[in-house]
Amino acid sequence: MSAPADAVPVVVAGAGIAGSALALGLHRAGIGVVVCEAHPDDGADAGAFLTLAANGVRALGALDAADAVAAVSAPMADMAILDPAGTELDRRPLGGPDERVAFRCLARVVLARTLRELAVARGVEVRHGARVTGATPDGDGVTVHLDGGPDLRAGLLVGADGLHSPVRALVDPQARPPRPVGQRIYYGFSPAADPGVGQRPADARLGHTGDFHVVRSGGGVAFGAIPTSDRTWWFARVETGVPVPPPDDDPGAALRTAVTPGVAADIVAAAERIHVTDAHDLPHVGPWFSDRMLVVGDAAHAASPATGQGATMAIEDAVVLAKALRDSGQGHRGPGDHGPGDHGIGDPAAAMAVYEPLRRGRTQANVLASAAMSGSPVTGADPGEPLPDPVLHAHLDWARPLP
Ligand SMILES: Cc1cc2nc3c(=O)[nH]c(=O)nc-3n(C[C@H](O)[C@H](O)[C@H](O)COP(=O)(O)OP(=O)(O)OC[C@H]3O[C@@H](n4cnc5c(N)ncnc54)[C@H](O)[C@@H]3O)c2cc1C
Repeated sequence: MSAPADAVPVVVAGAGIAGSALALGLHRAGIGVVVCEAHPDDGADAGAFLTLAANGVRALGALDAADAVAAVSAPMADMAILDPAGTELDRRPLGGPDERVAFRCLARVVLARTLRELAVARGVEVRHGARVTGATPDGDGVTVHLDGGPDLRAGLLVGADGLHSPVRALVDPQARPPRPVGQRIYYGFSPAADPGVGQRPADARLGHTGDFHVVRSGGGVAFGAIPTSDRTWWFARVETGVPVPPPDDDPGAALRTAVTPGVAADIVAAAERIHVTDAHDLPHVGPWFSDRMLVVGDAAHAASPATGQGATMAIEDAVVLAKALRDSGQGHRGPGDHGPGDHGIGDPAAAMAVYEPLRRGRTQANVLASAAMSGSPVTGADPGEPLPDPVLHAHLDWARPLP
């Protein structure tokens, strides 16, 4: 069954990391796509960073987006473990010897914006201020309802609309809400060298630029920092039990009390601005697909941030879903083609029958691993199953059909 002639083949709800990456994948597959983003503009808050692991960088390569992301991110080489005073206790390489898939560090908003701008430059329509409020599927398509705008007719609606996804509730009306994992995440950045912090800039004790420094701290605080050429990105994960909202005027107050004096405390003290969020995950997620609607990225498998894999999983989803739709429909025009977006999507159910078994076990294993690392292990959930690297690499190879 194919989408009716007057429909957009795919409407994506959300132009974050998953939605923008999927737009690139669908475009590469020659499948027409319109992306509807609730936020009215591009987003200016550069306070939150993320690390992109090797698998995420590999997936970007399949979307022809690795160079664009490399241009706005810093490479990461090693993970160094420090004691509170900054003495190095251990050091391990991050990733393998292949520099093309080296870990990267950048602001979360910059990653989403870079992917979105690349999609627009390649001809994808991205509508800002277009919040998806509902959808009505029928036999051969889905009518997507937008806040304050006319409906859109599509062959498929993909919810790349994050942790609190409205599309997830349409796909699975019984969906459980996200679970708080009992960790508060503080994050921000401090100037690269701050002479105001004692006689020694905090950064001077952080070894090499581009290394991921884990600083041991007591008080239930897990602290990490990455010095780049112009700033030191940092985060602190703090066990909270039942969280009390942080004070608006000084969100970092409780962190400053909890963190052990030393390099981590100095970096926190030098922060320009501190952001706070309480970690959530989705350990018991139901179906990902029903009636021409499906979910990807955090909307499908949000993990607490401990494994640092959420964004990379979202980009992997984009590659594998675009390949599944390409291979199942008329969109397959051969490897490497960038199409004008004039192709249909074939049968979405057939594509999902390929896609979901390839993604479910891997993403679920990450959700559970991250929950355990966050001190909030899950019982009674599907355990998931990690994928061996060669199998994952084959899934992420644009030229190879999916199994
Ligand atoms: C503190 C913290 C640290 C993290 N660190 C890392 C890390 O180091 N490495 C890593 O890989 N991952 C990390 N993650 C996870 C990562 O940020 C997420 O997995 C990733 O952002 C998921 O991307 P997404 O596009 O699925 O969702 P989002 O980034 O949440 O994007 C969803 C988009 O949908 C839009 N939207 C929402 N509702 C609607 C609607 N109704 N209609 C239209 N648009 C809508 C939103 O405005 C947004 O633009 C971290 C997360 C947190 C909270």
